[in-house]
Amino acid sequence: MTREQSKAGFDRFIREYPDFSVAVPGNLYGIARRLSLVDWRTYCDTMKVSGLAVKVVKKAPYPLKEVEGLIEVDERLILTSTAARFFSAKLDIRLNQELSGEFDYTIDCTWGRRGLPARIEFEQTLMLLYESRDWKGALTLMDGPLASIYPTEDDNIFTLSTVPHTPCHDITIDVQEKRAKMEKKIRHYLPAFPDLFRYVGVQSSRKTKLLDLSANRACTVYREKNEFKVMSGKIDAIFVAGDEIKCALGL
Ligand SMILES: Cc1cc2nc3c(=O)[nH]c(=O)nc-3n(C[C@H](O)[C@H](O)[C@H](O)COP(=O)(O)OP(=O)(O)OC[C@H]3O[C@@H](n4cnc5c(N)ncnc54)[C@H](O)[C@@H]3O)c2cc1C
Repeated sequence: MTREQSKAGFDRFIREYPDFSVAVPGNLYGIARRLSLVDWRTYCDTMKVSGLAVKVVKKAPYPLKEVEGLIEVDERLILTSTAARFFSAKLDIRLNQELSGEFDYTIDCTWGRRGLPARIEFEQTLMLLYESRDWKGALTLMDGPLASIYPTEDDNIFTLSTVPHTPCHDITIDVQEKRAKMEKKIRHYLPAFPDLFRYVGVQSSRKTKLLDLSANRACTVYREKNEFKVMSGKIDAIFVAGDEIKCALGL
């Protein structure tokens, strides 16, 4: 469901909000040798069956180790500040203020912070920020517990994340210890990482997850009388929420 919503939302997002995202040239996914949950051939076959174009890259623009195959994807970078400016100019937005007063309808877009009629958990996350003048594009290593270098809205700043280390289950975490683990993981595939990147800090945020076993990240709208509560999925699934609410209101 998450994959289907993302596929449908991707084209519509580009069509309806062409200025809210940019292409990431050189956005590479590497399938790790041995450690990947699926091998290179199965991975390519799965992408094809899902109707996703696979562009195989023969040679990486930088030396990689322990990578069985590489593909280039057309996944894009979302420009959240551009979106925030656009909607702030159109709507009377007062961010991070508790709701007060009487309304015909309310739409709770706090990503579950005010509660949802579903079992959820919050996950504190930490991504590391690096500066690089030489790096272009993005790199994600598919080895089960993925590692990823991704651009940000700032041309020279990149995030480093890894599935096992990005979540912070313990609030007394030692950032430098986390950094050492994340850098070790990325260096396994990209030995030149320390020469290419300079650590500049962290970006912390919080994820809301449905407590089910299927890793469901689909967008869902719950209704309690005149309040709609949006459980966001991936960002390009926002249309699911919009369409459902408009339909419920007969718009
Ligand atoms: C580390 C990380 C990586 C991610 N990677 C991706 C990715 O690659 N692709 C993707 O599509 N998605 C990704 N996501 C998910 C994506 O960030 C979320 O789906 C998206 O931010 C949800 O948008 P939202 O507006 O619903 O919630 P948020 O962006 O969380 O916005 C909710 C807002 O509500 C405000 N708020 C909270 N409580 C209250 C209150 N009581 N009253 C008023 N305001 C309140 C908050 O301050 C916040 O501004 C990632 C998330 C994390 C944490």
